[in-house]
Amino acid sequence: MPTLDARETALENPIPELAATLRVFQPAPNVLAFYDGRVAGARAYSGEPNWLDDGAYELGICTYAILSGAEALVYDTHISLAHARRIRAMLTARGVDRIKVVLSHWHRDHIAGNEVFADCEIIAHSLTAQALDEQRVSIETGSPPIKPLVGPMRTYEEMLQLQVGNISVELRHVDIHSRDGTLLLLPEIDLLFAGDALEDPITYVAEPDRLAIHLVDLQRIAAWPIRRILPNHGDPNVIAAGGYEPGLIAATIHYVQTLIRSRSEPELAKAPLSDWIEDDLALRRISVFPPYEKVHKHNVARMQALGAAEG
Ligand SMILES: [Zn+2]
Repeated sequence: MPTLDARETALENPIPELAATLRVFQPAPNVLAFYDGRVAGARAYSGEPNWLDDGAYELGICTYAILSGAEALVYDTHISLAHARRIRAMLTARGVDRIKVVLSHWHRDHIAGNEVFADCEIIAHSLTAQALDEQRVSIETGSPPIKPLVGPMRTYEEMLQLQVGNISVELRHVDIHSRDGTLLLLPEIDLLFAGDALEDPITYVAEPDRLAIHLVDLQRIAAWPIRRILPNHGDPNVIAAGGYEPGLIAATIHYVQTLIRSRSEPELAKAPLSDWIEDDLALRRISVFPPYEKVHKHNVARMQALGAAEG
């Protein structure tokens, strides 16, 4: 009875209209969080493998806006044009008429809504602009496609200071998760927007040959004045309540150190994720979210492949 089976599966795993499950939180007085995904059993785009569901919706994805008067800074443009349109409409409804966009890095789940902000200033690290140029064809023809791909019109290198109404924002370049990372620091309230440099419960390894560099930059940000952290992938309840404590950085450092060790320790590579992160779970720096088991397997496999390639 394949037809009935298929229908039952469809009912248990409904494909909602894109952006139908988008939720809005206010983690700080001048900050809105646009959270989608982590909806049990649900996919947003397709039952087939695709970056939107597998890389973002299933794990949970959150982008942000910093608002002051009629100005807003949008940090990443979310996973579809539908999401970006709803975000822009919410800002307009709050009286915003001047928008700057900052991209955390070049990965698809962070830039898919750029076209909706094509008339605004889109700012990114120069390496983000370069990666988007290099990946243009695969991004525009992927599943789902992001077409036309709109890139940044302004780039920076180490650091850039911006003013959003009366809020100061610092863009800081980091080489964590991907070499083109841009984090935002709000020095007046010690709030860090972490892009994909920090994830709960574990980081996603996209550039395995650079983990030692990532570790150096993780230790660098651990010394920044930070009271709360808002990541792009994390627990909606923690984000809604104001974000993570700095212990999320320490948890990420532990996990990356263990990944590096796992290259030469086969028993460690085979151990379940819960063994790797039990101390940081006990300290409540991170929490269990089962779909990250797959991310962990992917990470370990990337490290093993690297070890094999280098002999
Ligand atoms: Zn991401």
